[in-house]
Amino acid sequence: LNPDTFTGESCAVINFLADYYRDVDTYPVQPEAMPGCLRTLLPDAPPENGEQMDVILEEVWRHIVPALTHWQSPKFFGYFQANASTAGFAGETLSTGLNVVPFTRAASPVATELEGVVMDWMGKLVGLPDRFLFFGGGGGVLHGSTCEAVVCTLAAALDRALSRLGHEGILRLVVYASDQSHSTFQKGARIVGMPRSNFRVIRTSAASGYGLTAASVRDAVEADVASGLVPLYLCATVGTTGLGAVDPVRDLGELARRHGIWLHVDAAYAGSALICPEFQHHIDGAELADSVSMNPHKWFLTNMDCCCLWVASPAALTSALSTNPEYLSNVTEESAGAGVVDYKDWQIALSRPFRAMKLWVVLRRYGGAGMRAYVRRHVEMAKWFEQALEADGRFEVVAPTRFSLVTFRLRPRHEGDGDAVDGLNRRLLVAVNASGRAFMTHFVVDGKFVIRMAVGGAMTEIRHVQDTWELVREKAEEVGALLKD
Ligand code: PLP
Repeated sequence: LNPDTFTGESCAVINFLADYYRDVDTYPVQPEAMPGCLRTLLPDAPPENGEQMDVILEEVWRHIVPALTHWQSPKFFGYFQANASTAGFAGETLSTGLNVVPFTRAASPVATELEGVVMDWMGKLVGLPDRFLFFGGGGGVLHGSTCEAVVCTLAAALDRALSRLGHEGILRLVVYASDQSHSTFQKGARIVGMPRSNFRVIRTSAASGYGLTAASVRDAVEADVASGLVPLYLCATVGTTGLGAVDPVRDLGELARRHGIWLHVDAAYAGSALICPEFQHHIDGAELADSVSMNPHKWFLTNMDCCCLWVASPAALTSALSTNPEYLSNVTEESAGAGVVDYKDWQIALSRPFRAMKLWVVLRRYGGAGMRAYVRRHVEMAKWFEQALEADGRFEVVAPTRFSLVTFRLRPRHEGDGDAVDGLNRRLLVAVNASGRAFMTHFVVDGKFVIRMAVGGAMTEIRHVQDTWELVREKAEEVGALLKD
């Protein structure tokens, strides 16, 4: 890094981004980008000699930006958001600028300490029981994604069980999730070596709002125990990806305790809402869980990437994941021994960025009250959209809108219209996205095609939601939803 050119080049990038954000709502949210489109525009090998930053930025502007899906557009309502903010950007810039690597305390004492402070702050904000915080005997770590966090908790649960059962016991261990749980649990179970046949997907239904019921999990667990299997791990989700459903944490926690099952609470998306007291009942019973995770990089104004993982027993995690090669061992007394956190033993990778800096800047810049107001604004906008749908007899809301995700579809007009209506809803989504005026994604539940409108963009205002409602109505007419009976 050359301090003489650093300021100029960095300012050029910031000016570039400021221009981008100023106009982002005027760009088609998802322009067409055919496979291979960039190969025809870019050379097939890197330049031999370095180029100037302004030349590179010019290429970004010409070739990359026009083909981007604009996740930061206020009209991006797909998947879940990946929030960006000034504080998130500042925090990420500080992190990447300082570029320290806190894999052990010795390698980066103060970065390690900041992570501990931030994880306790965040845990308090989302209303976690003290047992997940460092001062309560638990602790937290910042991962890049929920997927990584889940793999680590599965590894910890597995390690604990195999020390009891012996290694061949892996064939008897079972993981439980619902048909609404994120696919990361299946992937994680495969990564840690569990047989695919030992993954139970428990059905949910509209009757429970697509959340698990303790009875359905109990039945599955008891059937497995009766056939000599050993329940290992259960995922409870607060805010599922497809529909925003919530599993009953307390009921599942009591069941998990009775059977010695590791309970993980996945609040990747809705964890951000848990900072508001009116949503905290959704994690009632969290004291019965072994681990909890949520993603500030979704709906918490924290630029990619950032996932909080808390565990009640850090030792369970570290005994599964720790290694002690000589080249990483600590030589000073304050960097070794009990109570020292070496984050390499809390995650998969060794090297890791200084994510704590980013989250700390976000928390300080916006504060608890600012973040609660931010979340509530989206919840209100989602409510507005839901009410507009309900007031229009052509649409139905598919699952209860618990946070800021609205799931809807055009209703069948007649009994037996199902397939035709699915086709219509699919065409409606394609037409909305092709307009470039908004972007949404879909889900399928009970065999029905459902459109998901996830409100939560950092720049989204009620006018964007209202315009999108107009767009949905307009496109519904275009695709023939208004055809006479
Ligand atoms: N869990 C839930 C409920 C999610 O909604 C998502 C992503 O949307 C994930 C897990 C996966 O998160 P990540 O992309 O951080 O691995």
